[in-house]
Amino acid sequence: MSRILLVEDDPLISTMVRLNLEQDGYHVEWHSTADGARAALEHHRFDAILLDLGLPDGSGIELARQARRSGIGTPILVLTARDDIDSKVQALDGGADDYLCKPFDMPELLARVRAHIRRSQHGLQIASENELAIGRGVLDIERRALCSSQGTWIDLNDKEVVLLQFLARNPRRPLSRAAILEEVWGMDAMPTERTVDNFIVRVRRWVELEPDQPRHIVTIRGFGYRYDP
Ligand code: CA
Repeated sequence: MSRILLVEDDPLISTMVRLNLEQDGYHVEWHSTADGARAALEHHRFDAILLDLGLPDGSGIELARQARRSGIGTPILVLTARDDIDSKVQALDGGADDYLCKPFDMPELLARVRAHIRRSQHGLQIASENELAIGRGVLDIERRALCSSQGTWIDLNDKEVVLLQFLARNPRRPLSRAAILEEVWGMDAMPTERTVDNFIVRVRRWVELEPDQPRHIVTIRGFGYRYDP
């Protein structure tokens, strides 16, 4: 049974969300304060976190940041009434994976929870292999670092780890920018396809011998990329 941490101080919303999640077969642990959620995260592992931003004793964004800093990779879905681009960007920068504005549709919330759990479980299976060759580099998934083509260790963020795994797992297959966005950033993708290109440029510097003439992460003009081992 998947475990979900629900952090929400509004009694009506939290009751509604909890009942719906439980009906879908999830175990839900509910906290109405940042402190309570922090303690829960220290003691339990969750499959997903639903996080309100405005909590009585602090900000959900800060909580997300702390979770990421302490190495918790659980998908975080932010629920908030703040429908402005600033808090959205802040939340995603702070380590959230997705964002839903209140009032939200329950079926949509449930669909997103399912999608995030599926994706992260997929990632965990790969993580057991631990090391993955990609181009001239070696990805150490557990350490979240890449031994580059120059032989130096580079610390990666979550998105870079997911992107490299996605490429390495799909050798010789044309991958559209949209497919990469969906895999790495999720269904509520804030970034544009340009973001994918920027990430690829950065990653090429690490796994190619000659980043300007890439032989491993190859551009497919007007479509996306292909990974050639
Ligand atoms: Ca609130």
